Amino acid sequence: MAFDIEKIRNDFPILQRRVHNKPFVYFDNAATTQKPLRVIERMDKIYLETNSNIHRGIHYLSDVSTRQFEEARETVRKFINAGNDHEVIFTSGTTAGINMVAFSYGEKYVSEGDEIIISSLEHHSNIVPWQMLCERKGASLKVIPINDYGELLIDEYEKLFSSKTRIVALTHVANSTGTKNPVKKMIGTAHRNGVPVLVDGAQAVQHGKVDVQELDADFYVFSGHKMYGPTGTGVVYGKESILEEIPPWQTGGEMVDQVTFGKTTFNRLPFKFEAGTPNYTGVIGLAAAIQYIEETGLNDIASYEKELLDYGNKRLSEIDGLNLFWEAENKISIFSFILEGIHPYDAGMIIDKYGIAVRTGNHCAQPFMERFGIGGTIRASLVFYNTCEEIDRLCEAIEKVKEMFS
Ligand code: PLP
Repeated sequence: MAFDIEKIRNDFPILQRRVHNKPFVYFDNAATTQKPLRVIERMDKIYLETNSNIHRGIHYLSDVSTRQFEEARETVRKFINAGNDHEVIFTSGTTAGINMVAFSYGEKYVSEGDEIIISSLEHHSNIVPWQMLCERKGASLKVIPINDYGELLIDEYEKLFSSKTRIVALTHVANSTGTKNPVKKMIGTAHRNGVPVLVDGAQAVQHGKVDVQELDADFYVFSGHKMYGPTGTGVVYGKESILEEIPPWQTGGEMVDQVTFGKTTFNRLPFKFEAGTPNYTGVIGLAAAIQYIEETGLNDIASYEKELLDYGNKRLSEIDGLNLFWEAENKISIFSFILEGIHPYDAGMIIDKYGIAVRTGNHCAQPFMERFGIGGTIRASLVFYNTCEEIDRLCEAIEKVKEMFS
């Protein structure tokens, strides 16, 4: 094993608790991850010692707070290897980030008759904002199809481009299946067609190194709470050349330069896109989460999670009556399955009674589930603080579910 799993588990206080009087197994990490003590303590320290609103304050604490907030921006910049700090915009999460881009970019560049490409693997938050944009502008959505393993059909993708394509919005890793898309290649295809790409990185940044310059992504969006950071935090990376051209989304304080009743001019990047008081406590907590991930090592995290994936695939496929879906070749440690003759919701409720948290349902991907003619699955999503023993516990609980329904 590449790293000290006992130590890692001790860094996450919540993992030590019991649920239904059983040791707690948390397999709902794609919904949100748990937080290491370091992140919790970092945020406590702000409220105990340095809390003050940021930017434009002339007093001591405002200055400290502003510095910490801007240092967090630099931490994020380095983490994703953005070229400039001002290409990193803080939002409340992936959903807010995609809405921001769909609105701002759409306002400037999308008109009647235009087309937007998304994929069959998208979370609702990378479908609905584009659909609404299409409705506002009279544009239409084109959807990249998938095969039975939950992998995108790249040849079909290439055929979707036309002179009317304005943007591609694509998930890096799908939350319903764990499929990792070949985003670098797909960005290359879009760029050869003169089309920019937004990548939804909500399920990717916590599982392996993301380098936005190497990918050549035009926008890269993610959430803090899915990467061991606080809720209500997120990031939009955008290329400076595009961010300069598109209008702000939300307006108000912070994002302005001069305001008169006749006209308002906007602040420079990134503040043009950060209206109002940002979640500076959360953002500083997010930087602490990134430092934790970096110290643990993204390569070690990825290889340990691959061990979990291989072990889980082996153990779950040994269970009679368990249908494991979407064994894409390139994927992260997410297992989506159904038990023959048992509703996922019923199974999930019983599994919970064994102290194991899994998620059941359509995982905010209804069109995807429809494609396979199912209402939903049981999803176990694992990260680097999970263990093979916990997978064994899940398998035992599944056997109990089967017994109860036999
Ligand atoms: N995109 C993907 C791939 C997701 O998995 C999720 C959440 O599960 C989102 C977007 C939305 O993220 P948030 O709810 O943090 O805005």
